[in-house]
Amino acid sequence: QSQELSQVQIDYHAALQALVENGTRMVCTGRMHTDRICRFESLCYSTEAEEFVYFHSNASVMLPNLGSRRFQPALLDLSSVEDHNTQYFNFVELPAAVLKFMPKPVFVPDVALIANRFNPDNLMHVFHDDLLPIYYTMQQFSDLGLEARLFFMEGWSEGAHFDLYKLLSNKQPLLREQLKTLGRLLCFTKSYVGLSKITTWYQYGFVQPQGPKANILVSGNEIRQFTKFMMWKLNISLEESSSEEYIVVFSRTINRLILNEAELILALAQEFQMKTITVSLEEHSFSDIVRLISNASMLVSMHGAQLVMSLFLPRGATVVELFPYAINPEHYTPYKTLTTLPGMDLQYIPWQNTDREYTVTYPDRPWDQGGIAHLDKAEQERIIKSTEVPQHLCCRNPEWLWLFRAYQDTKVNIPSLIRVIRRTVKSKPGPKKQKWSGSLYPGKVRDAKCHAFVQGTSEAKLAVSWQIPWNLKYLKVREVKYEVWIQEQGENTYMPYILSHQNHTFSENIKPFTIYLVWIRCIFNKNLLGPFADVLLCST
Ligand code: UDP
Repeated sequence: QSQELSQVQIDYHAALQALVENGTRMVCTGRMHTDRICRFESLCYSTEAEEFVYFHSNASVMLPNLGSRRFQPALLDLSSVEDHNTQYFNFVELPAAVLKFMPKPVFVPDVALIANRFNPDNLMHVFHDDLLPIYYTMQQFSDLGLEARLFFMEGWSEGAHFDLYKLLSNKQPLLREQLKTLGRLLCFTKSYVGLSKITTWYQYGFVQPQGPKANILVSGNEIRQFTKFMMWKLNISLEESSSEEYIVVFSRTINRLILNEAELILALAQEFQMKTITVSLEEHSFSDIVRLISNASMLVSMHGAQLVMSLFLPRGATVVELFPYAINPEHYTPYKTLTTLPGMDLQYIPWQNTDREYTVTYPDRPWDQGGIAHLDKAEQERIIKSTEVPQHLCCRNPEWLWLFRAYQDTKVNIPSLIRVIRRTVKSKPGPKKQKWSGSLYPGKVRDAKCHAFVQGTSEAKLAVSWQIPWNLKYLKVREVKYEVWIQEQGENTYMPYILSHQNHTFSENIKPFTIYLVWIRCIFNKNLLGPFADVLLCST
């Protein structure tokens, strides 16, 4: 690796002099540690201290300059998981003058993206916490192109899916351990620290039980732009007119098994009159799985990380997620949330085993695979009798009950499963040739005007007119409506109207010698609400 780093020749003495004279320069985005990403020039890292170092000089910059708030609790989150106290980033400060007493710096010439992976051995975490956030952080900053280099500082080894991380840039990503071999003091010429959280859709239950994030900001379009990039890197071309439609059963081979998988495959093939194939992470290469899933009509799988591969499904496909006995599908929804993101255009169908006879438990396995032998008899008894895992927080004791139930094997009740799928999939499942389903919102209505008519001392009318939103003349919209709110000045309430035309004369509840505020917005296709135009003041 060290040869690789020195490929780009830099003038060492000039670089060292610049570091001593200019020190470190940092400018960040974000108001809180949870939404901050920082850009640095000359950020250093001591591989002995395992700390980042900020060098002060006359020319150094530190924005935000938080003082001791930098430790409350940290400058930023180094992983995409929100406010996780094992994932904080900070640096220690030194005057640049002490560089002359320190080990000779080794300069990293590549533009660096420095971050933590959250759980690189679990495929759901790999995509959700790392790959998508890294991809879109790189999209956010133009000098993080394919020639940038990723630095993973969480301290794990490569992990089971390192090949996927390698697709994000043309340079080999480096791990914290490997930095030691490069030198005692590394200085990143240009670097970005932290990851964008804008694409994440799930929170794992550290402060409240797991579930969809409160404010999801990603849609199917951005997910699919990412999968398109991954498929391009994997050399997989999307077969436009796939010859045959088929169902994929994604099986697990180590635990949480489907015990009657052969029977399940036959039943699916027969019911839907489609070829049905199985894949597993153990028996197929990642590329093969992507190739198969990207053309599948339906994906059937036990709840588990492998289901994140739904993000490669074509529009219109169906995802069937199987839950073991006592595991409530509504409490574990990372894949439901993914597949039902706006614009993903997938159908999601959960199925749960509700039959105790059809579940196989493993009380004698190690605790992290659901074993309960280490617990006292009464506790074991309680767990074995359980019929539903109550909602719980992540990653702390006692979640024995959850693990015990999560690692059951299941004999799938085939008629029950087919019934559940048939409630949603009436004919053949599968990727329909999709018309573009992106939805565009109206702009403001234009040139709104009002005109009052007063009849005597007790009656009045208000004629209001406006022009169509500017963007409408370029669009084909099925239905265009206008919403008008009329509010008497000083009142809290208003009268709402939905109208089809660009003018209307209001007479009910309109009083003479009164000032009305009139709010108008356009609505496309019933639910695409545009912005209100500037309020119109109308005096009768
Ligand atoms: N895994 C697998 N086959 C198995 C069991 C697990 O490929 O039989 C993978 C799984 O997809 C995930 C990792 O191993 O990437 C960790 O699995 P675990 O059961 O811990 O997590 P979960 O799937 O419940 O998220």
